[in-house]
Amino acid sequence: MGDLIDQLREGLPAEAVLTDPDVTASYARDMAGFCPAGSPAAVVLPRTTEQVQHVMRTATALRVPVVPQGARTGLSGAANATDGCIVLSLVKMDRILEIDPVERIAVAEPGVVNAVLSRAVAEQGLYYPPDPSSWEQCTIGGNIGTASGGLCCVKYGVTAEYVLGLDVVLADGRLLTTGRRTAKGVAGYDLTRLFVGSEGTLGIVVRAVLALKPAPPQQLALAAEFPSVAAACEAVRRIMADGHAPSLLELMDATTVRAVNSMARMGLPETTEALLLAAFDTPDPAPALAAVGELCAAAGATQVVPAEDAAESDLLLQARRLSLPALERLRPATMIDDVCVPRSRLAAMLDGTAAIAREHGLTIGVVAHAGDGNTHPVVCFDPADPDESRRALESFHRIMALGLELGGTITGEHGVGLLKKEWLAREAGPVALEVQRGIKAVLDPLGLLNPGKVLDLPAAE
Ligand SMILES: Cc1cc2nc3c(=O)[nH]c(=O)nc-3n(C[C@H](O)[C@H](O)[C@H](O)COP(=O)(O)OP(=O)(O)OC[C@H]3O[C@@H](n4cnc5c(N)ncnc54)[C@H](O)[C@@H]3O)c2cc1C
Repeated sequence: MGDLIDQLREGLPAEAVLTDPDVTASYARDMAGFCPAGSPAAVVLPRTTEQVQHVMRTATALRVPVVPQGARTGLSGAANATDGCIVLSLVKMDRILEIDPVERIAVAEPGVVNAVLSRAVAEQGLYYPPDPSSWEQCTIGGNIGTASGGLCCVKYGVTAEYVLGLDVVLADGRLLTTGRRTAKGVAGYDLTRLFVGSEGTLGIVVRAVLALKPAPPQQLALAAEFPSVAAACEAVRRIMADGHAPSLLELMDATTVRAVNSMARMGLPETTEALLLAAFDTPDPAPALAAVGELCAAAGATQVVPAEDAAESDLLLQARRLSLPALERLRPATMIDDVCVPRSRLAAMLDGTAAIAREHGLTIGVVAHAGDGNTHPVVCFDPADPDESRRALESFHRIMALGLELGGTITGEHGVGLLKKEWLAREAGPVALEVQRGIKAVLDPLGLLNPGKVLDLPAAE
């Protein structure tokens, strides 16, 4: 331990190496429940690529595991410390290095907060679409680590579609540059994509070249109230089948609507069983909004309320962004599922989730990126009650099983981390797992990078 701290300090300023156990303990975990977290030997906060390389060379020389972290808003335990590890927090590498309107790219360090980048590019008439609800906290490095999504993905796609190139410090400290700055490029294997969603298990992202779009017009939204979740899902099916391209298509169930009202007094309609929010960011969104309103009515909506202006649309969006924090207030703890199913199976997924909640005697609020088929059932429980905790864990797993039965995936955007490792094995199958382990062995032969996350590596752990 003494050796480790001394060697880390040889290449880092004193204030960048934290060892006070009270301080290091505060870096032990992300926001996922039910995931073990160990005690780090040290937390390091590098400001340069060279300092990250020094950390990785030291870790390799001394065989110490390294857990990369962004803002720790992750929901799968992927940023949780292991005993004796170095927590490598990238939050101080937070410079936007370049915004280029001609190439339509931004170059950013990993600690840049998503909303900070979005606002900076907006000042130049540009748009960085990936917008997780946690955008005011989460970092570009964490977004790349988890391949995160957000509200606008139904039209613009997820983080993976916007990462053109990366600088990555490998486990042994070498610097790998992947990808391109050009609009096109197919030279060699797509190593960039390999690192997106790798949850810090393959290398440390220290710089990212990100694609930008021209800023679209301000979006205008509508809210539609439905007598059942199934009717709202039918509206989603009709909207997508009719060829519309909403910039947002989100669903909140009755539990979520009430939770948001009780937290933020938003005045959302409490009699509805499901609230569907749809928005368009085209120059004249009125005709598309009217058509979608009609489709909602045909699917059984009892009320369709278009926002009067951009400010009212923003309020609806804000209500949606508050859903997870609001549901988290219902019970002392929550587990947040992230199952993504084909859009045509969304109603079956949500009805099945409600049945699982009833069978287990639990509150499970559901908020969904409905246009993507990506549901977030939030299992609310009291960890001090062993029976309730057992039921919560059981229902969390039943929801993933249901997602797979319906042809979906166990994670649309939150990643595997610690929480869903056994489910990855079920979803991917033995051949895919073997290939993934092979890739891990090439890039991290000593198994030092974020050990125990995503895949189990029997030989290294
Ligand atoms: C209220 C709330 C709402 C949320 N809404 C959404 C949502 O709408 N969509 C969505 O996708 N997610 C959402 N999330 C989950 C979370 O915010 C995202 O997963 C986010 O991308 C995590 O970013 P972070 O900076 O907090 O990363 P962390 O949680 O610190 O890390 C996430 C993963 O990335 C790895 N990592 C971090 N930085 C690096 C790096 N530089 N190099 C290599 N690996 C790295 C870590 O090891 C870890 O595996 C939400 C979370 C909360 C709490």
